Amino acid sequence: MKHPKHERTLVIIKPDGIQRSLVGEIVKRYEQIGLKLVGIKMLVPSEDLVEKHYTIDPEWIRLAGEKQITSARANGRVPISEHPLEIGTIVLGHLKKYLTSGPVIAMVWEGAHAVAIVRKMIGGTEPLSSDVGTIRGDFVLDSYVLANQSGRAIRNLVHASGSVKEAVDEVKHWFRTEEIIDYRLVQEAILYEDFMGGALK
Ligand code: GDP
Ligand code: MG
Repeated sequence: MKHPKHERTLVIIKPDGIQRSLVGEIVKRYEQIGLKLVGIKMLVPSEDLVEKHYTIDPEWIRLAGEKQITSARANGRVPISEHPLEIGTIVLGHLKKYLTSGPVIAMVWEGAHAVAIVRKMIGGTEPLSSDVGTIRGDFVLDSYVLANQSGRAIRNLVHASGSVKEAVDEVKHWFRTEEIIDYRLVQEAILYEDFMGGALK
């Protein structure tokens, strides 16, 4: 069995993250927590790449719709529709425009609990309710209300895989095997080995 330190996750700095000059800040946070960057590229994605990315999980359209309905009800608002599939399909259309509107940076980060740690650091989907201290909570102020009023996707700077299974599929979707580099970082001894690299040996 592979050591848990080999878990990988996909992160995409969305076009607004690049336009807001937050690339360094975002990369810094993942580096500082001890994750290892094993793949990185800049590209302007096609609509097809974006649509496939969000429909790798056939349930995503419905789940995105349900999430908006739940958030609306919890906050005393009326959702844009009562039908999750209808909302999810509208959101997918918005996402195609959003993510193809400029360059993005796609990255693969590796380390123990990479998927959960990266999600925790990004914060919830809606910046208005994302925790302070998270990327979405600290650097952007968008909301369901604002985005739906303007008929666009919520601008929240970053995408990250939502589960280990999603991460495996998404990494394959954005990167060829040879674009991911298997190498060792010296700090891994401190993070994972019994004697922390044996400083006093
Ligand atoms: P994430 O995993 O936190 O990014 O959230 P989802 O996978 O549910 O949705 C993907 C992206 O679609 C989000 O990051 C937002 O940019 C956008 N989005 C999701 N739900 C909505 C919504 O209800 N309304 C709008 N306008 N955008 C949404
Ligand atoms: Mg998601």
